[in-house]
Amino acid sequence: MSALYGTYARSELAFVRGEGMRLYTADGTAYLDFNAGIAVNALGHGDPHLVETIKAQAEKLWHVSNIYVIPEQERLARRLAEATFADKVFFTNSGAEALECAIKTARRYFWDKGETERVDIIGFAGSFHGRTTATIAAAGNASYTEGFGPMPGYKHIEPGDLKRVEAAIDEKTAAILIEPVQGEGGVTAFSDAYLQGLRALADRHGILLIFDEVQCGYGRTGKFFAFEWAGVTPDIMAVAKAIGNGFPLGACLATEEVARCMVPGTHGSTYGGNPLACAVGNAVLDRVLAPGFFEHVEAMGKVLSRHLHQLMQKYPGLITEVRGKGLIAGLKITPPVRDFVQRLRDHKLLAVAASDNVLRLLPPLIVTEAEIEEAVAILSDAFAELETESANAAQ
Ligand SMILES: *Cc1c(COP(=O)(O)O)cnc(C)c1O
Repeated sequence: MSALYGTYARSELAFVRGEGMRLYTADGTAYLDFNAGIAVNALGHGDPHLVETIKAQAEKLWHVSNIYVIPEQERLARRLAEATFADKVFFTNSGAEALECAIKTARRYFWDKGETERVDIIGFAGSFHGRTTATIAAAGNASYTEGFGPMPGYKHIEPGDLKRVEAAIDEKTAAILIEPVQGEGGVTAFSDAYLQGLRALADRHGILLIFDEVQCGYGRTGKFFAFEWAGVTPDIMAVAKAIGNGFPLGACLATEEVARCMVPGTHGSTYGGNPLACAVGNAVLDRVLAPGFFEHVEAMGKVLSRHLHQLMQKYPGLITEVRGKGLIAGLKITPPVRDFVQRLRDHKLLAVAASDNVLRLLPPLIVTEAEIEEAVAILSDAFAELETESANAAQ
């Protein structure tokens, strides 16, 4: 019996080594990784630049505390600010903590202006923002909040109609919080018009717009951040997952106007942005911001989407919808998705389930056309197997 909390429905698989797009078990069996640790290993496994960086930093300095200047942290913040809408950055160890900082910043911003009633965050059905008490409350998904007590200060609406958002805004609203592409909720990419509409509503009502780009950001859609496709910017943004390629790191980014309220004493994190994490973060950024990286993701996203639409034509009874943007892709399928993920594992392909019975594909962003074709061939075999099995069962 495991001594661990029983919080995860784990498969039996254990990997001992990774290289590029592949993970290996102890007996040397290779698996094609279209999960990337749930959108974390954007540069795949064992990237030489990252390995060299972490080795060199490990020999120099790991941790000192945020009571001192951390040059690697200053540099990473400067680079993130230069590459985005943001002026200021707070570093965390995870996505949920990046959201915690975002929520605290939004509330404190209004408190600072004397609008102390403005504490409510408007969120959307199907969202996921992490597993702390504040972030499960922000997402409002009953399967995550059940049994964990009351958490006031959050409102939830069905996405899709801007009028519903406007109707939910009142004198207590501080911010609208949304993932431009919902990950866990079923790989739903919101339209440019919808994100533009949210920005306009936030401006009209003098409230803040927060984007959660923990999963869809950092290049995955073919731009640095998914919101860039819509040509609007948030006031605050949460980032994590790919930012450290597997080293625990997250960030809350904000405009100067908003971040100004977060004065000494308002927030902190012991580990957040330590030298080791930020050395890795800078090395990840070297690769992600290199010329051609986003173009590669965009091109591979198109290849993947084309193949997935072809699969849907081939198996119309099994696949009902292709979702996503770039290399965050989803297939809404009719057989139970968790069983199908297991079936793919038997075929040595790693993918992950999302809500709404969606199969989620999140390959490392370094994926090539040949690897996409390999994955699609496995998907096709697995769907064909299902068809054969149900034909046999019907006889
Ligand atoms: C994974 C995720 C989070 C939470 O990140 P953790 O590092 O697990 O705390 C928050 N928001 C989104 C959109 C995510 O996908």
